[in-house]
Amino acid sequence: MARKKFIAGNWKMNTTPAEGIALAREIVTQAKNISDVDIAICPPYTHLAAIGEIIKDSPIKLGAQDVHWEPKGAFTGKISAAMLGAAGVTYVIIGHSEQRTYFHETDVSVNKKIKAALGGGLLPIVCIGETLEERNSGKMEGVLKTQITGGFAGIAKNDALKCTIAYEPVWAIGTGVNASPEQANQAHIFIRSIFSSLYDVQFAQAVRIQYGGSMKPDNAKQLLQQSDVDGGLIGGASLKAADFMGIVIPR
Ligand code: PEP
Repeated sequence: MARKKFIAGNWKMNTTPAEGIALAREIVTQAKNISDVDIAICPPYTHLAAIGEIIKDSPIKLGAQDVHWEPKGAFTGKISAAMLGAAGVTYVIIGHSEQRTYFHETDVSVNKKIKAALGGGLLPIVCIGETLEERNSGKMEGVLKTQITGGFAGIAKNDALKCTIAYEPVWAIGTGVNASPEQANQAHIFIRSIFSSLYDVQFAQAVRIQYGGSMKPDNAKQLLQQSDVDGGLIGGASLKAADFMGIVIPR
């Protein structure tokens, strides 16, 4: 079964609401006739409801950048899956390397967040990836395996099928140094082998794996042409409509 490509923009902590609304409008205008690629944009929380209105009759889906695992209560600064769903959110990024590096995200918290997101009807985009030091010391495969088995512990296959994986080598995020198409594809094939052991081969073939890390219009085509690269999670280049669309429709 062919896997439909999926391009998601992670705006991170960028844009004011007014800038974000303008960017969303531009993307909607440029993407209005696209049906062969799934597209999502993940703005800051403060923009979600307004941008949800702008994209509601378009092929663009709304994503959030994180979710807390508890349903409600005294968790200052956090946001629940139900709150995101009510704001029109479809996807949620979980386990981004910036969360792992700066905000104490672990495979245990990733696991709790995936469960909470699925329980709230959201579709997780689960980020995994190795640092340069881990890659250079031969630990890449072990790191990816640990992140996957920890993140997906106790999650049934049918639920896991609602997730997208984003392979984001930490050394490629925001650095301008992307993984080569071959490096990305090899990692994706390895990730499928882990999922094949964790669930089964059908799952491994069905799960969509995005590549993330300095993907831009000028390297997107080669990356997206790889057999096991099913899309991209885009940071910097998602902040300009022309760049983002140059990845959605790579030349
Ligand atoms: C990201 O943050 O998910 C990302 C891939 O960033 P960038 O495209 O800027 O490397």
